Amino acid sequence: MPTIKPGSKFKLKEFDPSDSCGISEDEARTKTEEYAERISELQELMFAAGQTPLLIVLQGRDTSGKDGTIRHLLRFMNAAATRIAPFKVPTPIEIGHDFLWRLHQQTPMKGETVIFNRSHYEDVLVVRVHDIAPKEVWSKRYEHINNFEKLLTDSGTTILKFFLHISKEEQEQRLLEREQDPVKAWKLSVGDWKEREFWDDYTEAYEDAVEKCATDVAPWHVIPANRKWYRNYLITKTILETLEPLEEQWKAKLESLSVQMRAEVAEYRKTI
Ligand code: AMP
Ligand code: MG
Repeated sequence: MPTIKPGSKFKLKEFDPSDSCGISEDEARTKTEEYAERISELQELMFAAGQTPLLIVLQGRDTSGKDGTIRHLLRFMNAAATRIAPFKVPTPIEIGHDFLWRLHQQTPMKGETVIFNRSHYEDVLVVRVHDIAPKEVWSKRYEHINNFEKLLTDSGTTILKFFLHISKEEQEQRLLEREQDPVKAWKLSVGDWKEREFWDDYTEAYEDAVEKCATDVAPWHVIPANRKWYRNYLITKTILETLEPLEEQWKAKLESLSVQMRAEVAEYRKTI
């Protein structure tokens, strides 16, 4: 499992973006469906118990599959309990505040799942690569990010951070395919091609972000994302493995609530 250990060096080139760890596409798809069904049940309990928030952070280069991952997750996640929070170029009001201000407003409440499509990590990625803020500003942000994530996890939030890892060739392929597709070409942006020229700068920025912000409480998972079916499989599996240990806690809460509710109804019956 490509989970980055806190304190260890992280070099992206040591991870193969086409990796599928020996699982076949058929098997991965079957397993993904099984995991999805379980997550659906667990999320129902999580929502009803209303105890633990879940935050899923999606980061990755253009075309790495952030939107595709969200489409996949929304096929089986409970719409009433799930929210997507996309982070674009900050508005003037957002830029007028500290960088975590807009993030904190979107964090999940108890029982809820929020998926960040891009996140606070942009403030040490695009901001660093394009000198949007000076080094003395962005270099202090890793610590702020770790403290912010610690605050959330101390408040009961489970945090999962996924870096969708694609190769430069795969990105080119996806951009060219997009251009050919009459319905998908709207998604093209000259910026995507321009950003490719900064590929190595982004690699360095990602390596630093993952290395400095891989903590025990909020680990980074590097997802080989050249093959979409493997990306979906690994993300679904990781979410399930994260939720499963919490199941007993949610059930206990729901059972005690049920006892209380039954008693209230019984009391009421005595009065009629
Ligand atoms: P997309 O994900 O394709 O909708 O694009 C969103 C754009 O917003 C990307 O180019 C990001 O780099 C950019 N973006 C997100 N957060 C920030 C930020 N904090 N500062 C500058 N640009 C950002
Ligand atoms: Mg884009």
